[in-house]
Amino acid sequence: MLIKETPLYTRKTKYWHIVILLAVCTVLTVPSGADDAALGIVDSQTFLRRNMTPAGPPASICGAAVEKLLAQMTLREKIGQMTQLEIGMVTDGQGQSIRINPEKLRKAVGEYGVGSILNVNDEALPASKWQEIIREIQAEVNKSRLKIPVLYGLDSIHGANYVAGSTLFPQPLAMAATWNPELMLRGSQISAAETRKAGVPWSFSPVLDAGRQPLWSRLWETFGEDTYLATVMGVATVRGYEGSDLSSPTSVSASLKHYVGYSYPSTGGDRSPALIPENTLREYFLPAFAASVKAGAHSVMVNSSEVNGTPGHANSYLLKNVLRDELGLQGFVVSDWMDIKGLVSTHHIAANEKEATRIAVLAGIDMSMVPSDYSFSDLLIELVQEGKMPANRVDEAVRRILTVKYQLGLFDDPLRGIDSKTVIGSPESLQVSLEAARESITLLKNESQVLPLAKTVHVLVTGPDADSLIPLNNGWSYTWQGDRASRYPKDHPTILKAIQEKIGPANVTYVPGATYNKEVDIAKAADAASKADAVVICLGEWAYAETPGNIPDLTLPDAQLFLALKIMETKKPVILVLTEGRPRIMSRIADSARAIVMAYNPSNEGGQAIADILFGDVNPSGKLPITYPRSTNRLFTYDHKMFSGEDWGEGKAQAAPQFEFGSGLSYTTFSYSDFHAAPSTASGSQTIHVDVTVKNTGSRAGKEVVQLYLNERSASVTPPLKRLKRFAKVLLQPGENRQVSFDLTSDDLSFIGADNKRVVEPGVFDVRIGGLHQTFEWK
Ligand code: BGC
Repeated sequence: MLIKETPLYTRKTKYWHIVILLAVCTVLTVPSGADDAALGIVDSQTFLRRNMTPAGPPASICGAAVEKLLAQMTLREKIGQMTQLEIGMVTDGQGQSIRINPEKLRKAVGEYGVGSILNVNDEALPASKWQEIIREIQAEVNKSRLKIPVLYGLDSIHGANYVAGSTLFPQPLAMAATWNPELMLRGSQISAAETRKAGVPWSFSPVLDAGRQPLWSRLWETFGEDTYLATVMGVATVRGYEGSDLSSPTSVSASLKHYVGYSYPSTGGDRSPALIPENTLREYFLPAFAASVKAGAHSVMVNSSEVNGTPGHANSYLLKNVLRDELGLQGFVVSDWMDIKGLVSTHHIAANEKEATRIAVLAGIDMSMVPSDYSFSDLLIELVQEGKMPANRVDEAVRRILTVKYQLGLFDDPLRGIDSKTVIGSPESLQVSLEAARESITLLKNESQVLPLAKTVHVLVTGPDADSLIPLNNGWSYTWQGDRASRYPKDHPTILKAIQEKIGPANVTYVPGATYNKEVDIAKAADAASKADAVVICLGEWAYAETPGNIPDLTLPDAQLFLALKIMETKKPVILVLTEGRPRIMSRIADSARAIVMAYNPSNEGGQAIADILFGDVNPSGKLPITYPRSTNRLFTYDHKMFSGEDWGEGKAQAAPQFEFGSGLSYTTFSYSDFHAAPSTASGSQTIHVDVTVKNTGSRAGKEVVQLYLNERSASVTPPLKRLKRFAKVLLQPGENRQVSFDLTSDDLSFIGADNKRVVEPGVFDVRIGGLHQTFEWK
């Protein structure tokens, strides 16, 4: 087809014709990941291969427009673009009564020309209210000299959680427990579409911090402890948010956070220092960021804390040499909340805010989440005027921010998305969330097949988390802390309500027993237990986010343990259901529980999903994305190094974790056979082809996660016991078997050497899948 070059057919339109043609060709020739999912297999290797292509349009397509605009901007206008304020800087009132204050808005947009606004004031707003606010902001932009759209950003971390009525998904740790990146992708597409429908084109997500410190109050925002699983889930999120076209009315820009090392505070307390040797940082903390940058993520948010004595916001080595030069980030870098000021008040590396501003911007911060005053703009102007900040550093930051605004299509239509056909919280979207909740829930123990329960039993339901949507959701749900009951939907069942619906209210007794940390009516609960056929005890945590979620002890509070122990005295079968954002230690009650169900924070559909699993309407297929510790002083990840003196004096059983990373039971059984890894000797660019047959040997359909682990027997840096390198989630009917294949390349055999560089060393490798073992030699 020949398309004539007319004035209307510009380079930009030509680009879009090519994109559409390519998209059509892709649909016609490449089976989509979803097709594979329909065939019952989602494999990590194929998923990554298909989803690494960055969203268009490329930066080069708007390069000329950006340069033209930049050339017209005053210093003040440029620095305005680097400034991000919170919503209270342009509004009055809180919650639902929030409204734009025209005078404040004029100051922010007209006078200071701020580039970005973020956050809610207090609680989620309906999409219509968001649209009204964004319209008013962009209307003020239209009165300004250069009419540069404001980039609004929200923490849509498990759905558009600040848009009332939106589809909320299981929190990221639970999504990782699905080991199903197709579900993560689909959920992220819905989150993006619902966020953009509100007029907001930027989400501060995904959290790619490695969840390797179980005390950390943000563990549930992560994809767990494993680098590879987090890498796959991170790429799925970026692809779901950004799609193939960032300017689409259903796409938002991702923001990878919190770069890097934030998740590993030595004390376990949020925003406290970490010590991470560079080769460890590169081995475990960096790869998820690297892959998502490669997948095209358009922005990155920085670690509020410090690593090895250097605050994230002052670390020019990590922000420039690594993030820009090595990983190749093209988008812009935003600070976290008030963190330039933090260089003075928390980190004490600067005497005053002006010095902090100089350090942070020179280190590589492009946009400051100030967020509640104009100090950043005023101080940065002074720094440039005094010759203490090179003007070209400002130009560089502004160029990056403007480019992303162009890529998002904001210059064409700053309200893009508002008129999209997206339906907020549609039944189809809620169904995806329900599927995700069902696939995330992890059956950790099922002694004598006590589960599934027959629908004819009489159960006692008890425990603090039984009758509330709050612990099913956790933080970033309608409000920052997620703990305001009045904001939650009335039409979603809690665990208790879902069980009542499942087996009829007459078959269910409910006694609260305890709150999160106080006894309520434990004697009454124990009495009711003695009259029931089985007891479902719903334990875990309440909602929290960030620093307010700090705890001094990972053990489940006494009141909850005591409730369980008292009920266990009745000898009735106890099923523990855990709704919690981190693995609260419960070794005192684990042995006496007949079944243990880890539900994480499965969100609003979670009550339903838990009941579906307890009563056998759904076969569980979640696997732990973390190691579940047995005791407070034995916190380690599955990929630890060899411990000498494994017994620790008290016997091996005490030293082992309560539940292993990657574990999770099913109501059917699977067997593995025909395991081959070939060739047995390889080198250079050769691949090791691995295949294995997995069979459903039980009597009902189920999904198994085939997990491939690798280790090198000896290496110049002490090798971990094993590392996850591939996985595939496979649906199998009773008696059905399926061959699953993976290819390993030298990349998979490599590690970060003592010199902080990636290296592949010759040696013997063990490869393990489902209890089977093969070796090969790398020359
Ligand atoms: C958090 C970030 C979040 C930001 C904006 C900060 O306190 O650390 O994760 O994106 O607030 O809400």
